[in-house]
Amino acid sequence: MDNAEDHVVLCRKCFKPIDRKSDLVVTFQMFRVLPYHHQCYENMLQTPGAGSMGSRIDGLFGTLGAMTGPVIALFLIARGLPVWLLVIACIPIVYRAIAWFRYEKYLGPS
Ligand SMILES: [Zn+2]
Repeated sequence: MDNAEDHVVLCRKCFKPIDRKSDLVVTFQMFRVLPYHHQCYENMLQTPGAGSMGSRIDGLFGTLGAMTGPVIALFLIARGLPVWLLVIACIPIVYRAIAWFRYEKYLGPS
């Protein structure tokens, strides 16, 4: 069984441990879920030519965004659109769950 004390979440920019959930930013980038320090993420966003940082998938807005897709898909399916639309709309929920199981659940609340 995974022990929270044994699991270290490392920032993908500076490779130092992330200790608190409030300092964690999880992004979805090139089909990967990557953790960063909040400050490292902000610095990379402000660096010209840094390329795409991916979209942030953690926090309240990440959770709400992940839940919005399936609700809209259900509405559209009820109006006659194909059911496979729901599968595609659930992909953000899968990535949100991966972020929680791989990183967030091991960190303290603040
Ligand atoms: Zn960092």
